[in-house]
Amino acid sequence: MAGLLSARVLSEHFEKVIILEREQLPEGPEARKNAPQGRHIHALLEAGLTVLDGLFPGLVRELVQEGADLVDLARDAAWLQSGSWKVRYEGGPHSVLVSRPFLEWKVRARVTARPNIEVWQGYAVEELLTDASRTRVTGAKVKGPEGERTLEGGLVVDTSGRGSRAPHWLEALGYGRPEEEQVGIDLGYTSRLYERPAGFDEWKILVVNGRAPEAKRSGFISNVEGGRWIVSLNGYFGDHAPIDDEGFLEFARGLPSPHLYEYIREAKPLTAPVSYKIPTSRWMHYEKMARFPEGFVLLGDTVCALNPVFGQGMTVACLGAKLLGEKVARARTSPGGLHAGLARSFQKELSKIVGLCWFLTTTMDLAYPETRGKRPLGLKAVQWSVQNMIDLTSLDAKSCHAFYEVLHMRKGMEGLLQPGFVAALLAYNLKSLFVPREQRANLTTLPPSPGRGEPPAEPGPRDIAA
Ligand SMILES: Cc1cc2nc3c(=O)[nH]c(=O)nc-3n(C[C@H](O)[C@H](O)[C@H](O)COP(=O)(O)OP(=O)(O)OC[C@H]3O[C@@H](n4cnc5c(N)ncnc54)[C@H](O)[C@@H]3O)c2cc1C
Repeated sequence: MAGLLSARVLSEHFEKVIILEREQLPEGPEARKNAPQGRHIHALLEAGLTVLDGLFPGLVRELVQEGADLVDLARDAAWLQSGSWKVRYEGGPHSVLVSRPFLEWKVRARVTARPNIEVWQGYAVEELLTDASRTRVTGAKVKGPEGERTLEGGLVVDTSGRGSRAPHWLEALGYGRPEEEQVGIDLGYTSRLYERPAGFDEWKILVVNGRAPEAKRSGFISNVEGGRWIVSLNGYFGDHAPIDDEGFLEFARGLPSPHLYEYIREAKPLTAPVSYKIPTSRWMHYEKMARFPEGFVLLGDTVCALNPVFGQGMTVACLGAKLLGEKVARARTSPGGLHAGLARSFQKELSKIVGLCWFLTTTMDLAYPETRGKRPLGLKAVQWSVQNMIDLTSLDAKSCHAFYEVLHMRKGMEGLLQPGFVAALLAYNLKSLFVPREQRANLTTLPPSPGRGEPPAEPGPRDIAA
């Protein structure tokens, strides 16, 4: 996704953009060998949807026409977060519920339809090429079907994902390696597709996620195209759902609430369960490197591979690509052009987008004593307040809306500093000292949908934090 979106934005500024993809891409909406995560639920945050809709006008409409659901998540999601059910109301963030292979296939079709973008399939990047002084990346050495060759270009973008070899390439060029921050979670996903029961409309996406540190399991059911449900179960620290029918159901039965199990118990599976393991969340701090070459930028999972439970990865890729387009547009008209600090300043600005997501996910993950990672000073107090904030959003729609605006990256953290929200949270924090949790949060009852209205309007121009 990061590669496709980068190509899309760069095609406005360069004569030709070449996507080097090491595998042969499928013709249809199928999960790929080198993107196996596509077999698991892929939620899109509103900021990601807005970027996609801006880059590819009509894409959302096309997805909906072909069976995806455009949803109001405050209304259409039933979400147990950290042990309390979110209040449901109308007018929340939008998203589109679709499988990752289908979304990627549609995006790829739009990208490759642009006349100046080529996709070279079966071409693996082996190393970077530089000028004689090694201060500027000038291209890449690639290995393809007819052997090795070199390619020159004005800008090289690494979007090769978590397994990127950029740290090694930069070290070999004398730049050293970026600092690597890791939070160890030993998370495992197991997923399968089901037939969606006819006429079902209690929710369009169900998320069941208990409170840390007691609950280590989460479960998701989401509508996807083709009248199907994708069901993903996950667990931390080796508590992974098995890939046999009985084991999968039994794991679902052990989720923090019985609802998900009850929904899938009688449903008809369409595929066998498949699993994927995520040992760590990992952030490569390219923005902190003492020296960095011109002509080379990195984004997507290459820079930061987040715990996917929070559904941020594709949105961060969208926002990164949008930022890249803006930076390149500005650099082209500046006196120094493309090679006067663009690379470094891009990585620095990208780190602000990544930083917000990293903070949200790792704060929650570090609530488990088993989580491996640096625990910042004051973490316990932040976690206490975050848990209270989550519990507050189970009853108070206004606070829930403020929370969604930050979660869906329409606003940065300042979205939580509005006086109304701060006052509500402070009062709730105080209440939490005296009132038992079960009396001040909805811990048990899946809230009904507040309305069965029309699908929300297609996303128009909206604010995005980044
Ligand atoms: C289980 C799971 C669930 C997830 N759920 C969500 C979710 O709900 N919402 C969400 O937004 N995100 C989710 N994500 C994260 C999301 O998949 C990624 O953040 C997103 O796809 C961005 O990835 P990317 O494009 O940076 O890298 P990738 O998708 O990993 O793509 C990298 C590409 O580079 C190619 N490549 C690699 N090396 C080379 C090379 N040397 N030469 C040429 N090509 C190369 C690969 O073949 C691949 O096509 C999830 C991830 C996992 C693992």
